[in-house]
Amino acid sequence: MKAVQYRTVGGAPEVVTVPDPEPGPGQVLLKVAAAGVCHSDVMVMSLPAEAIRFPLPLTLGHEGAGTVAALGSGVEGVRIGDMMAVYGPWGCGACHKCAEGKENYCLRATELRIFPPGLGAPGAMAEYMIVDDARHLVPLGDLDPVRSVPLTDAGLTPYHAIKRSVPKLIPGSTTVVIGAGGLGHVAIQLLRAMTATRVIALDVSEDKLDLARRVGAHETLLSDSSAPDKVKALTGGRGAEVVLDFVGAPPTASIAAACAGVESDLTIVGIGGGSVPVGFGSLPYETAVTAPYWGTRAELIEVLDIARGGEVEVHVETFGIDEAPLAYERLHAGTIDGRAVILPNS
Ligand code: NAD
Ligand code: ZN
Ligand code: ZN
Repeated sequence: MKAVQYRTVGGAPEVVTVPDPEPGPGQVLLKVAAAGVCHSDVMVMSLPAEAIRFPLPLTLGHEGAGTVAALGSGVEGVRIGDMMAVYGPWGCGACHKCAEGKENYCLRATELRIFPPGLGAPGAMAEYMIVDDARHLVPLGDLDPVRSVPLTDAGLTPYHAIKRSVPKLIPGSTTVVIGAGGLGHVAIQLLRAMTATRVIALDVSEDKLDLARRVGAHETLLSDSSAPDKVKALTGGRGAEVVLDFVGAPPTASIAAACAGVESDLTIVGIGGGSVPVGFGSLPYETAVTAPYWGTRAELIEVLDIARGGEVEVHVETFGIDEAPLAYERLHAGTIDGRAVILPNS
């Protein structure tokens, strides 16, 4: 079968032919309908050899959806032909965090060398993929796999970040969303669907700011050093109750900190190497800074339910599997609006 692989450190992703996978005991084989292209892959492909925790080649794709094509021995609860979304942050299934459904925070994944598909285990950017356990599948039902596959990460990650801040997002509150890309444009819609907050979106691209307005941002600002003063002006000098940084680079972390108000939540989701100093006087009183990772399986079910209600619509641009390297180039260049989705079987 064809697969999109990251094969050599520093190289570009390549479309190659690999053996068809067969499900072992407890595993599920999916015929992949759609695989999302995430900026985290670009980050992984920029790491030096010593920072890569898994062997290459790696089949990319940590957002996956497809139909159940075959079952390994002992698998129960899914049927051949069911359309499923893959819950990506695989854990051990047995530790305290996994018992709470928080496999994204599995306490033993590192020790047991359990990796998410596309981030260590073979991923969804192939005609078929192996899912290690049926519990990592969530039925899509009547949702379109192409338009909903980004919800498994570009939806789930912002949902998890927003959910913990919902009590602060009362009418009259303000949320600043930095980076209106794959995650950010879904975050804006989730904020509108889940809360009464006013959304101010920041980006460096006018096209992305246009998308931000179309998906529900009340205000948009270019992301530069003047943005915090503009946010302060828009909030009567208070600053934002919640700041979500979907870039997480040094300049955006500084902007995020300067937009935060007293008792705000400052959540750094992007993995661009930025950080925020915390200590008395460095931030407004009781600003809580956090850097979450992905979300829980229950939260994926919740995100898919929101999408079923029609309140979140991912903007997707589709590519055939042979065009996947181009999709990565376009993502790197910042010219994908919304999410790029690879269709390995069409
Ligand atoms: P993306 O490329 O689709 O979107 C990034 C957006 O940020 C683009 O619209 C870009 O124009 C904008 N941007 C770039 N520089 C900016 C700046 N200085 N100020 C404001 N906006 C700027 O990327 P994505 O797939 O949405 O991923 C976003 C980030 O989140 C990446 O760092 C990714 O690795 C990370 N991520 C983290 C998690 C997690 O669990 N913490 C999960 C998924 C993705
Ligand atoms: Zn991702
Ligand atoms: Zn675990």
